[in-house]
Amino acid sequence: MGKPTGFLEYERKNAKVEEPLSRIKHFREFRTMLSKEEQKKQGARCMECGVPFCQSGMMIAGMASGCPLHNLVPETNDLVYHGNWEKAYERLTKTHCFPEFTSRVCPALCEAACTCNLNGDPVSVKENEKVIIETAFENGWVVPKAPKTRTGKKVAIVGSGPSGLAAALQLNKRGHLVTVFERKDRIGGLLRYGIPNMKLDKKVIDRRIKLMQEEGIVFRTGVDVGKDIKAEELLKEFDRVILACGASNPRDLKVPGREAKNIFFAVDFLSMVTKSLLDSEFQDQKCDFVRGKDVVVIGGGDTGNDCVGTSIRLGAKSVVQLEMMPKAPDSRTPNNPWPEWPRICKTDYGQEEAIAVFGHDPRIYQTTVTEFIKDEAGNVQKAKLVTLEPKKDEATGRMNMVPVKGSEKIISAQVVLIAAGFLGSQKYVTDAFKVAVNERTNVKTEPDQYETSVPRVFTAGDMHRGQSLVVWAIQEGKKAAHAVDESLMGYTNLN
Ligand SMILES: Cc1cc2nc3c(=O)[nH]c(=O)nc-3n(C[C@H](O)[C@H](O)[C@H](O)COP(=O)(O)OP(=O)(O)OC[C@H]3O[C@@H](n4cnc5c(N)ncnc54)[C@H](O)[C@@H]3O)c2cc1C
Ligand code: SF4
Repeated sequence: MGKPTGFLEYERKNAKVEEPLSRIKHFREFRTMLSKEEQKKQGARCMECGVPFCQSGMMIAGMASGCPLHNLVPETNDLVYHGNWEKAYERLTKTHCFPEFTSRVCPALCEAACTCNLNGDPVSVKENEKVIIETAFENGWVVPKAPKTRTGKKVAIVGSGPSGLAAALQLNKRGHLVTVFERKDRIGGLLRYGIPNMKLDKKVIDRRIKLMQEEGIVFRTGVDVGKDIKAEELLKEFDRVILACGASNPRDLKVPGREAKNIFFAVDFLSMVTKSLLDSEFQDQKCDFVRGKDVVVIGGGDTGNDCVGTSIRLGAKSVVQLEMMPKAPDSRTPNNPWPEWPRICKTDYGQEEAIAVFGHDPRIYQTTVTEFIKDEAGNVQKAKLVTLEPKKDEATGRMNMVPVKGSEKIISAQVVLIAAGFLGSQKYVTDAFKVAVNERTNVKTEPDQYETSVPRVFTAGDMHRGQSLVVWAIQEGKKAAHAVDESLMGYTNLN
């Protein structure tokens, strides 16, 4: 049991965050960590609830509440309070393969569900996790653990995002021979080429991949399965295949002028920026075209926010972020009580930076683009916007956002980034393996199962679940590994 009065004695204290006007000058991580002594007090705030919602990972009102990995949160918090960092690391990694990723990028479903929310601030579970894992790396406790014996069974994993990596780690642990195929030049999926470096330094991924290689996992980059290697070849060479290719089909905006130059899908743009950073620290000048330009980001979500922060770092003259829906409330409404996921308006790092640089929130709500206007050279120059209002469709009863007559206006836009979400898996891969897909083009399985319609082919992550979060991708990878191991060995002891 932790400190019974900890939550009464200590306020929540977060680690220092570099000021927006300073951090926009670089692409490095800008969140620091508390000292271990201070973090111990944060661990002491945990009430060790009899019913710890933080670790429940349940669906409530259609949204996930609590940690999907069912991390043993009260127990690790107690070990943090006692400064028993090594045991805390052991306890955390009983359920979690990659705390160094989620402790940087997770929206912390655990904290949203924490009981302390009822009367104040939640326990800082995410920062506790970061100090635990970074202390473990500092002290050399994170070492490669190659299996003592090999089963001789071979598993191919297509896609090296968090789901593919989690599946690889688990299956290798059981002694199977695992090869991860990745079409890009570097491993990591959206951890590498989606989430910007200032949120997740790519050295953190390299550090983990090195360990996984030392444990015996083979990584093959630059191999596009379904194009460079046929599905049949993979199925011939490997006993099982896991498709973990992500939900990489971006939702487009079909309006006149869409073909203009300098209109990008958000992930293509973010990927180009990270590649230029990693290849040459921007010396290749591939991202110079943003400097001094008016940038319009279409999509008010987290990916849009990453585009805002990235464009500011690249020297954009102005940045606006368009959102179709009305602004969410600033605090929970009565119909969205704890421990449901809070459907509230958050101002993320990119928006904070835009406020600091331009003096106002970049988001414009209830607005979309109806046309892009280009110059003679075909470069986008302007965007025609229209205001939207909610209107009930009498036939279906659904609320739709419809244009307000006479609300059109034109704004300057020399770079446009479309961050309007994803539409599921890519057809060439699912066609290559002939796996059935659902109406959203996610790979179809029975509920809570991971084997596809094709024997020996399994699936995990966004490709299965639809666009989601790193923590869910890790959970999917673990579950798929469990199913694969069971099908290979007749039983499994993977958790
Ligand atoms: C810009 C952006 C920011 C995000 N930020 C966050 C965040 O802060 N926190 C959070 O929790 N989640 C975030 N997400 C969501 C999160 O990144 C994803 O849910 C998660 O990465 C999905 O993991 P995955 O393993 O299923 O797929 P992915 O990470 O998409 O990886 C799939 C991999 O498969 C490879 N691949 C695809 N087809 C083939 C093929 N045929 N052959 C070989 N390789 C192939 C792809 O190149 C890719 O590397 C973000 C998403 C985006 C787009
Ligand atoms: S819900 Fe909050 S206070 Fe309760 S055990 Fe979990 S982290 Fe601790």
